[in-house]
Amino acid sequence: MKALCVVLTCCVSLAGAQAPDSLRVNGARISQHLQALSEFGKNPQGGVSRLAYSDADHQGREYAMRLMREAGLDVSIDLAGNIVGSRAGSDAGLKPLLIGSHIDSVPEGGNYDGDVGSLSAIEVAQRLEEAHIKLRHALQVIIFQNEEGGTIGSKAITSGLDDKLLNLKANSGKTIREGTALCGGDPNRLAEARRAPGSIAGYFELHIEQGGTLEQHKINIGVVEGIVGILHSEVTIEGFSNHAGTTPMDQRRDTLLSAARFIEKVNQVVTSIPGRQVGTVGWIRVQPGAYNVVPGKTVLGLELRDLDASKVETMFNRIRDKAKKIGAMNNTSFNFSEPIVTHPALTDASFQKLIDTTAKGLGLTTKLMPSGAGHDAQEIAVIGPVGMIFVPSIGGISHSPKEFSTPSDIENGAKVLLQTVVSFDRLK
Ligand SMILES: [Zn+2]
Repeated sequence: MKALCVVLTCCVSLAGAQAPDSLRVNGARISQHLQALSEFGKNPQGGVSRLAYSDADHQGREYAMRLMREAGLDVSIDLAGNIVGSRAGSDAGLKPLLIGSHIDSVPEGGNYDGDVGSLSAIEVAQRLEEAHIKLRHALQVIIFQNEEGGTIGSKAITSGLDDKLLNLKANSGKTIREGTALCGGDPNRLAEARRAPGSIAGYFELHIEQGGTLEQHKINIGVVEGIVGILHSEVTIEGFSNHAGTTPMDQRRDTLLSAARFIEKVNQVVTSIPGRQVGTVGWIRVQPGAYNVVPGKTVLGLELRDLDASKVETMFNRIRDKAKKIGAMNNTSFNFSEPIVTHPALTDASFQKLIDTTAKGLGLTTKLMPSGAGHDAQEIAVIGPVGMIFVPSIGGISHSPKEFSTPSDIENGAKVLLQTVVSFDRLK
């Protein structure tokens, strides 16, 4: 009998509660909340400029907190300035389950990046409340501060922020230190804001894809394998600036020619290995930069991304070898700055499976895919297992007022989030 009681409490803890498996989100309500949130920081192009720590950000956060309270969440702001809406669980021995995202935007951003995941997480809490379902795990809906400025709020509670970061000016003109205080956090007590590794049961984040893969393949849900690691290195090519009219072709030390060959080689190295890795030369500066001078110095930016850190390293080493040869061929020298590396963050394999099974159970198609963009989930992965759910971005457009995801795609994503939470709570 006791065992039966336990089974019953874990599924339905209150008399008259709806069966959790049959619970669905209210898609129209999510659309309405997205519309209302888009008013804060609205820009003439139809998107938002809701920069972290701006007035619009403050208003958006107030609005989100109101929705959280309406969803029956106990709302507080942690010492790092993140909004936390808590819902008690029936088993105090279990660690809390986290869901959420962010609502700050880039300058001239859109209405979906971050907002979809934040408002859907609130909707999950609201539906659980309306259906009188008490989960075994405590649930925390988190809206992280300043995601677009470098996943600041999520980093603050996991790896921590150093002084260099705290003194950095955000796009709104405020430093991260000032902004954290403005959000209601305490920059002098950030050590206390940190959460210990192993202190959470897990974190699920719903987000727009920000690329065009799902739409192109007509897939409903992206199951994220991980957030790619990124390597940046500044490449300086030295040669000799000389008269473009009088220096014979075989006596030039033309760094722009070396750069052209180098850019081609980067592309060849990256595409010669099977996989979804990407490599880009995104900027270039040529000196002196005149019609009639052979360019004596060229500096360019190399970026490599992949889920596998060792693959990124292999590509970087190969590119450096190729550069040496190009340099010798052209009598120029290549110098690579010490690479700045962000390590990849993998999502938990059992979380991937849970999201995939849940989505398929709801009649949706899925695709396992990496995330080429950064997310709060990559920071939270430091303290516990994470999972991410992607919904299609129309035209693969993001960080633009033209960013768009259809209401039905958003509803699908939120549905998957809700049922993933319910299944997780039953299984873990
Ligand atoms: Zn985002």
